[in-house]
Amino acid sequence: MTTSVSGTEVSSKQQDGCIYELRCVECGRSFGNQPLSICDECFAPLEVFHDLEAVRGVFTREAIARGPNNIWRYKALLPVPEGHQPDLPVGFTPLMEAPRLARRIGAGKLWVKNDAVCLPTLSFKDRVVSVALANAKFFGFETVGASSTGNLANSVAAQAARLGLKACILVPADLEPAKILNTQVYGARLVRIDGNYDHVNRLCSQIADRFHWGFVNVNLRPYYAEGSKTMGYEIAEQLGWRLPDNVVVPMAGGSLIRKIKKAFDELIELGLVEAKPVRYFGAQATGCSPISTAVKNNTEQIEPQRPNTIARSLAIGNPADGPYASRVIRQSGGWAEDVSDIEVVSGIQELAESEGIFTETAGGVTTAVAAKLYAHGRIRPDEETVICITGNGLKTTDALQDRYAQERAVRPRLADFEEYLRELELPAEAAFVGGGVHVG
Ligand SMILES: *Cc1c(COP(=O)(O)O)cnc(C)c1O
Ligand SMILES: [Zn+2]
Repeated sequence: MTTSVSGTEVSSKQQDGCIYELRCVECGRSFGNQPLSICDECFAPLEVFHDLEAVRGVFTREAIARGPNNIWRYKALLPVPEGHQPDLPVGFTPLMEAPRLARRIGAGKLWVKNDAVCLPTLSFKDRVVSVALANAKFFGFETVGASSTGNLANSVAAQAARLGLKACILVPADLEPAKILNTQVYGARLVRIDGNYDHVNRLCSQIADRFHWGFVNVNLRPYYAEGSKTMGYEIAEQLGWRLPDNVVVPMAGGSLIRKIKKAFDELIELGLVEAKPVRYFGAQATGCSPISTAVKNNTEQIEPQRPNTIARSLAIGNPADGPYASRVIRQSGGWAEDVSDIEVVSGIQELAESEGIFTETAGGVTTAVAAKLYAHGRIRPDEETVICITGNGLKTTDALQDRYAQERAVRPRLADFEEYLRELELPAEAAFVGGGVHVG
């Protein structure tokens, strides 16, 4: 079926023998492949269902190892059209041991999955956007967009430029300046909306319907969400095809944590890793904690909140996947926690000083929540735990603005430098030990 709307050819294409399709998560009805995210009968979300049997001989450790050093090594289990030729090397970020952070927070075997350096735009959103835009092209959209808390805007703008698509992106007006600039520089139209993310998202649904644009996290959301699975695949492969005991994951809409579980479950089902119960731990900022609150209340019922936190990339007060995230966490025997904005800043500093990784506020949330989970005995030190760091600190430097004093300039003479050290009242060695020089 092809319809011409506003000069744009939009098709709901069915591929012969396609091994994935959209289905309603509640009633199970099939919707084929089309830009649609909600079941028109029960209003539940649609999700991509893959025929795992069809990839059993294809999605193997050996075949994956022969693939490119990016998320497209897992293409057989990503919902992208047959023959799609990806040209952006997205993902395959480092999984790093974190022994110094482990000592500071009372952990044992601790790993950091470092999407602060995810390419091309330094957040895990690059994974989801590349899968969504592959489908946007296939469905014939010429204009794409997103309702964004920041990182999504950056990634859609950059990847749309690369693909020659027009981009129109809507954000809450109070977004960090760096995230606004990081969108505009790619030539995307950025519209600041006088409201919070939930207002922006509702407006985007209406725009997508009216103008037939491809919004990556609205009408293309089922495809978008599958991109998050690649973080799970990478963790398992980088551990030597094993699963960890625990993962700690930041939550905004609640999609990433669900899809990491989906990835691990698929790997077990296909025999790439040994079956093992993994516990899922969710991280939020207290100023926007609808999912961690639901977990603590042992419910899937999400009470929407009005966000008030510096962790703007996680500030979704009415999370679309909240009920499912809560279910995944509680059924796994995991937990969810939330932390204050002061703890978020400490979390950023802690990770930077101990492991040399500068993360944004969302990573501060994850690090501080991990520390809290160990402190409360929710995670034991003898368990193997991966914390997911999802964005880069250079995008949220305003969160640290008041933490480091602007010192006076020292004249370029040894005597002046020695005088400077005397004023610090520190011996030369101590002045440069990490963590010695905070303000406040
Ligand atoms: C969007 C985002 C998340 C959370 O993603 P959801 O899938 O919506 O829960 C986590 N970290 C960062 C940095 C993000 O931008
Ligand atoms: Zn349904």
